Amino acid sequence: MSRRECLEAVAAALSSGQTFLATTHVRPDGDALGSLTALMLGLETLGKTVHAYTEDAPAAMYHFLPAIGRIGVGPPPPDLGSAVDAAIALDCASLDRAGALRKHLVAAPRLISVDHHSDGVPFGDVRCTDGDASSTAELMMELLVDIMGVGLTMELATCLLAGHVFDTGRFSQSNATPTAFRNAARLVEAGADPEAIVRDMHDTMPLHRLRLKGRALERAEIDETSGLTWSLLSRDDFASLSARPEDAEGIVVDLRVVAGSSAAALISEVKPRECRVSMRSRGDDVDVARLAMHFGGGGHTRAAGCTIEAPPDEAIRLLLQAAREHLAAGPE
Ligand code: 5GP
Ligand code: MN
Repeated sequence: MSRRECLEAVAAALSSGQTFLATTHVRPDGDALGSLTALMLGLETLGKTVHAYTEDAPAAMYHFLPAIGRIGVGPPPPDLGSAVDAAIALDCASLDRAGALRKHLVAAPRLISVDHHSDGVPFGDVRCTDGDASSTAELMMELLVDIMGVGLTMELATCLLAGHVFDTGRFSQSNATPTAFRNAARLVEAGADPEAIVRDMHDTMPLHRLRLKGRALERAEIDETSGLTWSLLSRDDFASLSARPEDAEGIVVDLRVVAGSSAAALISEVKPRECRVSMRSRGDDVDVARLAMHFGGGGHTRAAGCTIEAPPDEAIRLLLQAAREHLAAGPE
């Protein structure tokens, strides 16, 4: 099925319902939340009711998104899943990515999935998964505006542009395709403000977060064998700066700049025997999703993540060992 055909099937499923439960993945990012708020605004314009929930609270950097304050955080009322006409999961490569929302999604009479991961486990009665899309927001724009005829207001354009900006690394990665740029032009014409979006989403942070970044940068190391630049933030770092694990989001991008490295990884000790690893590759010839999958995580070629159930020293050892095996450039 072509992208247009599967999006038309999603549009038909949305058109035939009146009330929806919608969610996105745990620790939602700019594409996840841009897509979710776009869905809320779009379906509400069509006179429908959307109950949006995420397992984790949207980080402060996303508070500028219209409708963000109407996303419920945590579990929805227990009977909501069975009371709606359909449930919708956005930007979820697999059903597990919805976290605790999963059981509410599967309780709905119909489950719809829209996603752009190519490494996932597709799910849903009606779904559109297109790994060629720059972002889930790109699919949502085609779905809502081009197929369902929702007017492109400034608010909707802001949500959709935020998703594109986030997932293309501010239009700097290989998924910044001609389609993504064409969409951006339409969204800016509709009133979205790219400068304000980038400032709010990427160029604004509390002082403790800047200091957390400082610690990660200061401690950066490069593993010569794999070319992985890596750093660690310990529980002490987070505690002494009154920072939370989500404050480490995005720091890995600053580690990726090291000349001669193939990829970067930031290890955050979130619990005594639990380390979150965030990874970014420097080029399409290095696939960090493979490295993440080695530890049961996943993602895209250029951006991936996983959790390693081990204390930091052990997590670093395991990560470097796996990096030496999986980060070789080029086809296997
Ligand atoms: P981040 O480094 O920003 O946390 O994650 C980068 C990308 O990797 C996300 O957009 C997501 O696609 C993927 N990702 C991160 N953590 C996980 C994980 O634990 N499991 C899976 N399957 N994907 C992940
Ligand atoms: Mn995405």
